[in-house]
Amino acid sequence: MGEKINVKEIVKRKKEELKKEVEFLKENNVTPKLAVILASEDEASKIYVGKKRKMCEELGVLQQEYILDDTITTNDVVNIINELNNDSSVHGILVQLPLFKHLDMDKILDSISDKKDVDGFHPLTLGKLFIGEHETFVPCTPKGIMTILDDINTEYEGKHAVIVGRSRIVGKPISQILLKRGATVTICHSKTKDIANFTRQADILVVAVGRPHMITQDMVKEGAIVVDVGINRINGKIIGDVDTENVLPVCSKITPVPGGVGITTVLSLLQNVVQATREQNNVKKP
Ligand code: NAP
Repeated sequence: MGEKINVKEIVKRKKEELKKEVEFLKENNVTPKLAVILASEDEASKIYVGKKRKMCEELGVLQQEYILDDTITTNDVVNIINELNNDSSVHGILVQLPLFKHLDMDKILDSISDKKDVDGFHPLTLGKLFIGEHETFVPCTPKGIMTILDDINTEYEGKHAVIVGRSRIVGKPISQILLKRGATVTICHSKTKDIANFTRQADILVVAVGRPHMITQDMVKEGAIVVDVGINRINGKIIGDVDTENVLPVCSKITPVPGGVGITTVLSLLQNVVQATREQNNVKKP
């Protein structure tokens, strides 16, 4: 019988560690600051911005918000970002997605300095991640997945990692990180034929699709570690992409939904803000 990973406990512990890192930076006369740009009416985005604000407050990180209305142009947003790029008191810049439809997302994201790209979506940041030889910001959800896998002492070398989903924000970056760690990686997507043939070979199975309970017991290898990234709202309840209760007897460990990968994302963002502050001010880790 497998076990559900206690992600809440991991996040609590990592938050305490991060708090100490923030205190150390303050002792070195730097207070981390995150700038957040919200340019949409999306209700979920407003909730996410609120969660980020709350964690900044908890950790003693400063936050500067730009709540923009639909009269804003792409150039206006780029100008704000340019000012923030040149402001040495701001260490991280986050543009909450999605944006108003009339805005050019690529142009806006590309204008963020790669030194302040704490969301990790800039092509330069992703390029460095894919080359695998540089220190760089890791996008928040894949970083959270690695926080969990590292915490449970997952072995990567020689293991077969199967990723279901190839998005820019989850599937692609996590596949490259696991490749760098020495796993053999297979990426499945909507055009893959007989997905079960691949998932059944996985020592580490990461699922980021957005299809409720698509991974069933017969698709999982005995003893696999399963990471369920999916968030699906069904009749007011949140469920993952994995049929957790039925997969539990087969796998060794599995992340729950809710209370799994989702709760690591804001932590990852704040870890990136602290990393950016250290790098911009040449302060070592405590
Ligand atoms: P996305 O951009 O929509 O990508 C979904 C991926 O799944 C695509 O690569 C797609 O393949 C693939 N796919 C679709 N149907 C499939 C099928 N039947 N079989 C195999 N692959 C299939 O989604 P995302 O942004 O990566 O998010 C995925 C899920 O994770 C969503 O539920 C989202 O809410 C959740 N999520 C959670 C967090 C968190 O913090 N926990 C963060 C981000 C996302 P193609 O490329 O061929 O279209």
